[in-house]
Amino acid sequence: MTAKINGFEMPDRGGCFGEYGGRYVPEQLEKILDEILIAYEKIRDDDDFKKELQFLYKNYAGRPSPIFYAKNLSRKTGGARIYLKREDLNHTGAHKINHCLGEVLLAKKMGKTKVIAETGAGSHGVALATAATLLGLECDIYMGEIDIAKAQPTVIRMKILGANIVPVHDGGKTLKEAVDAALDAYFADPVSQFYAIGSVVGPHPFPMMVRDFQQIVGIEAREQFQAETGLLPDYLVACVGGGSNAIGLFTAFLEDHDVQLYGVEPAGFGPEVGQHAMTLTMGTPGVLHGFKSYLLQNDRGEPSSVHSVASGLDYPGVGPQHSLLKDIGRVNYASATDQEAVDAFFELSKAEGIVPALESAHAVAYAMKLARGLDQTKTILVNLSGRGDKDIDFVVEHYGKDHGIVL
Ligand SMILES: *Cc1c(COP(=O)(O)O)cnc(C)c1O
Repeated sequence: MTAKINGFEMPDRGGCFGEYGGRYVPEQLEKILDEILIAYEKIRDDDDFKKELQFLYKNYAGRPSPIFYAKNLSRKTGGARIYLKREDLNHTGAHKINHCLGEVLLAKKMGKTKVIAETGAGSHGVALATAATLLGLECDIYMGEIDIAKAQPTVIRMKILGANIVPVHDGGKTLKEAVDAALDAYFADPVSQFYAIGSVVGPHPFPMMVRDFQQIVGIEAREQFQAETGLLPDYLVACVGGGSNAIGLFTAFLEDHDVQLYGVEPAGFGPEVGQHAMTLTMGTPGVLHGFKSYLLQNDRGEPSSVHSVASGLDYPGVGPQHSLLKDIGRVNYASATDQEAVDAFFELSKAEGIVPALESAHAVAYAMKLARGLDQTKTILVNLSGRGDKDIDFVVEHYGKDHGIVL
């Protein structure tokens, strides 16, 4: 459990982080969510559950992930020393396995036989399919027809893992329609199925639960950083899509008021062009997908279409805890453009031999900017949320030439 920050519970009994979060759902769903909440609250302090999850983190996912002093990148950048929390080294290549293992284990303990979810580019789908097959549950992944065509290798990977891919042919045939279809399927059978949300979003208890499963990142990082340097980092930097990797890193440091926290949103082509997903920087409070938070929306309260080169950051909403942390000034929210992220993708690859996910490259880009304004006594710890293998083809096709890669 997280202590109060500035007098606010994280969250309160109703799942509210200040005015954000909560539940904006049909009555039918209230009951289902209450069952999940009750099961989760019972199980999270249960020794067997904790032991089993710790075992999977360690022996399956490969935790603890190391922290690494990126000496070459720091020297090239100039200024503060940059450290990386290597979530890219987890099994399946990103932080998402942390909450998928937690959610599937909970579903299993609740007696569910199937987990379901939507996926856009497929990262959440792969992590969920992995955890489901390991723990012996069926897995249905709802995916828009257009996304299926775009992410063929990922779709094949999920099929190899035994997941059932449900194509969605409605409307724009992408993520939003996939969410609608998955929700319909969930309502049709909430008894044998468990809806596994892919970030710290959705109605209570999901933002709290996914946060709890991700906070291992910050707990490890805090210990590792102190063991290596004797101090805490001066700055933490993480990219923010829904906000799970960022809150996972930040949670263990929220009460360390000397540690400055930065969440980095995708500025896309730049805010002046209007194609971005800077929800906290440019949005206004509203309700989407069952919870209240900052939201990029039009005058009628409909979610805006958003853009980022990193499909994992391409979401018009954000986790409700981030909205509160912004309002109380505990976390600073900054941004990096597509171009800055791609440049950082190449910089980190060349300097350290580490190819970051385009999502994580946003955090690296901002950390480099921050480092330049500081001196060598200062330290910045970046959450390297995932590896970039999934992005290589796209990056080389669109940006390879600028970086001297000719095919
Ligand atoms: C999905 C994803 C993200 C964005 O999700 P958050 O919930 O904001 O963490 C970031 N990095 C990687 C590598 C991802 O796969």
